[in-house]
Amino acid sequence: MKELLFLEPVFTHNIWGGTNLKDKFGYNVEGNDIGECWGISAHEHGDCTVVSGEHKGKKLSELWKENHELFGEYNSERFPLLTKIIDAKDDLSIQVHPDDAYAAIHENGSYGKMECWYILDCKEDATIVIGHNAKTREELADMINNGRWSEFIREIPIKKGDFMQIDPGTVHAIKGGTLILESQQNSDITYRVYDYDRLSNGKPREIHVKQSIDVINVPAKDVADSIVSTDNLEKNALHQLISCDRYSVFKIDVDGKMDFEQTYPFMLVSIVEGTGEIDGTQLKKGDHLIIPFNYGKVCLSGKMVMIASTPA
Ligand code: ZN
Repeated sequence: MKELLFLEPVFTHNIWGGTNLKDKFGYNVEGNDIGECWGISAHEHGDCTVVSGEHKGKKLSELWKENHELFGEYNSERFPLLTKIIDAKDDLSIQVHPDDAYAAIHENGSYGKMECWYILDCKEDATIVIGHNAKTREELADMINNGRWSEFIREIPIKKGDFMQIDPGTVHAIKGGTLILESQQNSDITYRVYDYDRLSNGKPREIHVKQSIDVINVPAKDVADSIVSTDNLEKNALHQLISCDRYSVFKIDVDGKMDFEQTYPFMLVSIVEGTGEIDGTQLKKGDHLIIPFNYGKVCLSGKMVMIASTPA
């Protein structure tokens, strides 16, 4: 049987970061401004290392190039996906991402960014920014150019376990006190639409007005189509939360025992709650791994919640 690939995450320090990744996920990392845990990543700004087994010590980007049999027939120049946990102690700036076509032209051949969020934890009465209220591109440009932010920004209530797809062109932002797991394309291209007029080292951070007006979808997707609850899903089953043209994402709520056949080229898995086992190897909240190509039957046991993804 092929080996599972367990990965050592990479952490980022951010002005809006906090200590939840240490306190709630048990990661051994210094600092009180840890914003992101890149749990499964081969990006040049954070390339995860395999922690055990035959490939111990190798970077995920190296495996992609040198041991491609682990990933089957899936061919792309770069590893296609990235899984992060984000701890926002403060509000994040309001952002939008380009699609592949726009990024290829304007960002030096980079991928665009499609992403989705699973809410791991949030305050009571928490909200998230998703979409906007402009009806036409002219109105969008006017709202952005003239700082009509209270009219522009659309905030929606959220709770733990909510899931949302964020297509390129979707305005979005996490508010302080929210912890999310993000499954995304392997890209770091972000356009900042609005930063709440905050200063960083005495100066406002750069705002990408032109790119934002270029790429924001108008009108925004309906509120009702923006968020789905994942409460009350049947336990011990692989539940697809989204399938789009870049990835599929699944939730698995293990309570006791289950198994499933890994029929995808490969699967990225993050444990977001609890403890258990995968084919005899212990798992705990905060672990990240890849189930390689042609792995076959996966046996899970324990009491844990997993979010998994696979490229489209
Ligand atoms: Zn984003």
